[in-house]
Amino acid sequence: MDDYLKREAEEAIGFMPPEEGSALYKSGLMAADFGPLLEIGSFCGKSAIYLGAAAGEKGTVLFSVDHHKGSEEHQPGEEYFDERLVDPATGKIDTLPIFQKTIIKAGLENSVVAVLGDSAEVAARWNRRLGLVLIDGGHSDEAAAADYEGWAPHIRVGGFLLIHDVFESPADGGQAPWKIYRRAVDSEKFLEVDSVGSLKILRRAAG
Ligand code: SAH
Ligand code: MG
Repeated sequence: MDDYLKREAEEAIGFMPPEEGSALYKSGLMAADFGPLLEIGSFCGKSAIYLGAAAGEKGTVLFSVDHHKGSEEHQPGEEYFDERLVDPATGKIDTLPIFQKTIIKAGLENSVVAVLGDSAEVAARWNRRLGLVLIDGGHSDEAAAADYEGWAPHIRVGGFLLIHDVFESPADGGQAPWKIYRRAVDSEKFLEVDSVGSLKILRRAAG
């Protein structure tokens, strides 16, 4: 991956360690042969740089879905609250301006398409097969299940399903991503091909 983009990704606000980011980029390159890439959870654009870099190299795009209001854990008083994300006019979280700046500074405007809205609402109306879906949105059981149920059917055979923040032990993190990871593997529609940190990399099986 281009050194400048790697540095931009590492400096962006967010939750994607470099090793996992590098795995996103590599998966993105392979997945682009099957269709466009899509992520749930744009936040401030960190994962979008890794996937957008791959999309750009392969002449496709990354759709990056977020309502930009933050997840439960980003709200005031919660564990991952960050004052920089607050819109002073409303006092509420708004990550859209930061996301946009991150993508423009990285020079990825032509490779990353922002989709502003609720993930389940967008998924229900989506009508295009995808080469890759990264689930990294809300971490409640309801949000994670809705993301899996809404987006997994749009992945082309051979395409990739990536799930972030998968922790087997509750001591290491919330269990919602783990539950959808188990559902995906147990369904036999997805085969695990790799795992880097808390990132699980699965591929859509035939049939
Ligand atoms: N991928 C990011 C981190 C994502 S944090 C990175 O690399 O840093 C999770 C994001 O999911 C938040 O920005 C939050 O606004 C978004 N989100 C949570 N629930 C959502 C929903 N139902 N629809 C759309 N976005 C949602
Ligand atoms: Mg995450």
